[in-house]
Amino acid sequence: MLTHLQAQDPDIYEAIKREEKRQAFELELIASENYVSEAVLETMGTILTNKYSEGYPGKRYYAGQENIDTIENIAIKRAKEIFGAQHANVQALSGSPANAAVYMAFLKPGDKVLGLSLDHGGHLSHGHPVNFSGVLYNFVRYGVEEDGIIDMDKVREIALKEKPKMIVAGFSAYSRNMEWKRFKEIADEIGAFTFADIAHIAGLIAGGVLDSPVPFFDVVSTTTHKTLRGPRGALILCKEEYAKNVDKAIFPGMQGGPHDHINAAKAVAFKEVMQPEFKDYAAQVVKNAKVLAEELKNYGFSIISGGTDNHLMLLDMNSKNCTGKEAEHALEKAGISCNKNMIPFDPRSPFDPSGIRIGTPAITTRGMKEEEMKTLAKWMNEVCSDVHDEATQKRVAAEVKELCQHYPVPGIKL
Ligand SMILES: *Cc1c(COP(=O)(O)O)cnc(C)c1O
Repeated sequence: MLTHLQAQDPDIYEAIKREEKRQAFELELIASENYVSEAVLETMGTILTNKYSEGYPGKRYYAGQENIDTIENIAIKRAKEIFGAQHANVQALSGSPANAAVYMAFLKPGDKVLGLSLDHGGHLSHGHPVNFSGVLYNFVRYGVEEDGIIDMDKVREIALKEKPKMIVAGFSAYSRNMEWKRFKEIADEIGAFTFADIAHIAGLIAGGVLDSPVPFFDVVSTTTHKTLRGPRGALILCKEEYAKNVDKAIFPGMQGGPHDHINAAKAVAFKEVMQPEFKDYAAQVVKNAKVLAEELKNYGFSIISGGTDNHLMLLDMNSKNCTGKEAEHALEKAGISCNKNMIPFDPRSPFDPSGIRIGTPAITTRGMKEEEMKTLAKWMNEVCSDVHDEATQKRVAAEVKELCQHYPVPGIKL
């Protein structure tokens, strides 16, 4: 594998080989990451990357589209079927540009939008001041309560007072079920558009373990590379009446030519999602997260909202007398990868926050189950109980490596 690259560009080749080792021998708890299948990997590496195909199937601006149209039509058909959507656009390059296109399709610059604030689990593209969304649109925010949970009565209060043109429901760091129906009812009271960003949980919705906003919401965006386990990219689903505006917002509004090799890989990933095994995967992701949460609680970790309904959880590292940054660093030394994260009402800063975010999508793809979650919680406790204890980090790293030998990462042969 990679024989041409090895001969032609050893610098890049060697870095990729080292990255393969890193991925193979560490436990990946970053909640937004996953491992794609070998079929998805192969598709991304094909000559489809050579093609320009601005436009949509049957309506392109360049010649030579017969195969590209076939591929994009298959991707669209599968996406619609998986989510029961009226319309799908598969061209969005990633989650943030997909959201930019959604806003462009439904709003004018300066329009008011209600979204979950970043430090309460929202995403940058939901109106953070440093992001295009916060620059172009007038975002107002809802958050979680002291118990770490969104109170829909509070959301309604804010919505009635602010009368936004759109309500965004979605998150990057929230471990509880979203009340899609309540969001829709509130939006209907004020005539607002409903936009669900399911970037983190699309795979769990597709796998039937979480409720879907698609039947209720005007428009839904998702990344394809998180729990959906496809290539890096995104997908927009909407009601038929908004199809034209959404398509126009992606192209020519936001983007030029689609990435056809990635869109083909999306189609391949969608086929995997449609197999019965994917339901088992999605169910196991949540089972693993619940076991991990319970075990961590038994070791004295404090979990925001007290537990999880999905694939992720936020840990308040005050419960282990360290900061999020210290925990992230110590765990990395021990072969366990996660990210520091603000917790709701965090007195610390985004670069040095109080919490870490962990998730089970990647380790579940490797085949790990409840037993491994118990071991993982034990290791996390050992490392986080004294983040300066390098001997423990070293020992755990060796034990992690041993465990990882039994759970190969798709596409990595060492
Ligand atoms: C990850 C994420 C995005 C952004 O996706 P990128 O592909 O990184 O641009 C958008 N919204 C939410 C809720 C996310 O979790």
